Amino acid sequence: MNSILDTGIKKSKNVDSYIFGSGSLNELKDSIENRRKDLNDFAIFFVDEYFSGSKILKKMPITDKDKLIFVDTKDEPTTDYINNLRDEIVNSQKDIKSAIAIVGMGGGITMDVAKAISNLLTNIGNAEDYQGWDLVVNKGIFKIGIPTISGTGSEATRTCVMTNKENGLKLGMNSDKTVFDEVILDPSLSKTVPRDQYFFTGMDAYIHCIEALDGSYRNAVGDTYSKMSIELCKEVFFDSDMMSDENREKLMIASYLGGCAIATTYVGLVHPFSAGLSVVLGTHHCISNCIVLNKLSEFYPDQHKEFEEMLKIQNIKLPEGICSDLSDDDYESLYNATIIHEKPLFNALGENYKEILTKQKVTEIFKSI
Ligand code: ZN
Repeated sequence: MNSILDTGIKKSKNVDSYIFGSGSLNELKDSIENRRKDLNDFAIFFVDEYFSGSKILKKMPITDKDKLIFVDTKDEPTTDYINNLRDEIVNSQKDIKSAIAIVGMGGGITMDVAKAISNLLTNIGNAEDYQGWDLVVNKGIFKIGIPTISGTGSEATRTCVMTNKENGLKLGMNSDKTVFDEVILDPSLSKTVPRDQYFFTGMDAYIHCIEALDGSYRNAVGDTYSKMSIELCKEVFFDSDMMSDENREKLMIASYLGGCAIATTYVGLVHPFSAGLSVVLGTHHCISNCIVLNKLSEFYPDQHKEFEEMLKIQNIKLPEGICSDLSDDDYESLYNATIIHEKPLFNALGENYKEILTKQKVTEIFKSI
């Protein structure tokens, strides 16, 4: 009998090429211009709205023919949002076949939107049809990822996460076809990130890797990526100046390596609980992970201790009591949105994970959050 962990990850795909170093954003021009062959050819740029009106935009090779979309990152993407965006793009262009490249510049949300749209422009149907493992049939439009904040690893992973509000499923299009064709890792872009956000997002890389190393689905390649990523995160977050030029560069590499790690294995307990918070209360992925890890010392004692030290050194305060006083219906929804993630839970606790994570246990944990 096949274990459920046998599904999906038999081989792994990395990004085809990446450009690294401070100022490497300047290389985007060549990457795009080399692909323009015809007068009607155009590129689609998804840029985090944070950069609207910023000087960085002027450095980007965006012409009148191109489509520039600022991505609202207040809420994490839903399948409806992705479908509507796809329709808007298709309806605004004479010939969608003239799209030569898609650029996603921003955090995990913006990069995930770029990946999802790239897939949907070459595959029939809607975003929800591709939530799952290896469902994308055709290769998407050539896509370039440019992270401006480090941690989610979206620049390296084979997924783009979105929530289907109809069934409460927070799940990405896990596919080799979701992996970026090119990634530009320019640490100068994360200079202006607010401190708290820098910490929460950076911890996503750390959490991906501690969950992976603690799981039962392991492989030597994933383990190596995870260990290196954790080392770099510790160097950054145990340092008094976590946002120095050197540390921003280290965290950008940690994020990339963490993404590579997670592409070959699974997360564990933190991400399912975190997904519950995001689906039911709308809290963002990275801060949700930190809130959850803070309450899972029972399952991750050593990592929890390390995390507490990092919080202290960086003087970061986590929100408390966000789930302490919810209705029974809300706790039911939180349980359902957590327990649905069978692969990571199986990875963390084995096939009988529901015996450990009973409804009562899960509700208790959420009540402490
Ligand atoms: Zn994550």
